[in-house]
Amino acid sequence: MYRIIKILLKIFPRPLLIKISLIVHKFVAFFMRGNNVNCPICEGNFRKFLPYGYIKKRENALCPGCLSLERHRLLWLFLKDKTEFFNGNRLKTLHIAPEQCFIGRFKKMKNLDYTTGDLESPIVDVKMDVCNIPFKDEAFDIVICNHVLEHVNNDNKAMSELYRVMKKNGIGIFQVPLNIKSDVTDEDPTVTDRSERERRFGQYDHVRYYGMDYFERLKSVGFTINLDAKNYLNNMCINNQTRWGIIPQDILPIVKK
Ligand SMILES: [Zn+2]
Repeated sequence: MYRIIKILLKIFPRPLLIKISLIVHKFVAFFMRGNNVNCPICEGNFRKFLPYGYIKKRENALCPGCLSLERHRLLWLFLKDKTEFFNGNRLKTLHIAPEQCFIGRFKKMKNLDYTTGDLESPIVDVKMDVCNIPFKDEAFDIVICNHVLEHVNNDNKAMSELYRVMKKNGIGIFQVPLNIKSDVTDEDPTVTDRSERERRFGQYDHVRYYGMDYFERLKSVGFTINLDAKNYLNNMCINNQTRWGIIPQDILPIVKK
């Protein structure tokens, strides 16, 4: 199964992959039913999650029910557990590069005034560049922009734009691949070769691999860091981490304006 996923990821463009996966995963989910793991997003129970990863394979990563990964499930749990995202007052929400496991669920939520945006996805409301967000200042209570900034050459401009469109006291959710072992981001705009980018930054279209100074970059445009989110996993027991398929070292970058 992992080999098939890896080959598909390499051959097909992402928009086509999204369409294919919508059909295939329903069959896979049926055959993976079991009682070892539970997905908090689709509430499916399975024998295990599927392996996933561009270069390094991670076991127990991809939910066959909703295609969520470890980081999606972590974010979902945090939002349920520690915020009023699911039951708060009307929240004007911008979701950039929306993940397939979230988009349908967030769209159905009555308390969200929900807009999706992306540079190339065929399934969003607004075609947009994160460095030039086509909305007025302070338009959104919540801005979600996961696994985007590592693709953007001028991430400072993108962060400033994300800050600009957020209301005061708004919440930003900006997950990126984080090298927690490094204090410093590995970044070199002269690296354009696909295999060198893959080797150094983790994927052929990434322009950097963030280190822990990622949080300083976010602060530099005005955000404050939600430390409760950053340390969220410290209090989650190992049994739940395993059951929900969470990476124990994962860190949630959630910010406030
Ligand atoms: Zn799921």
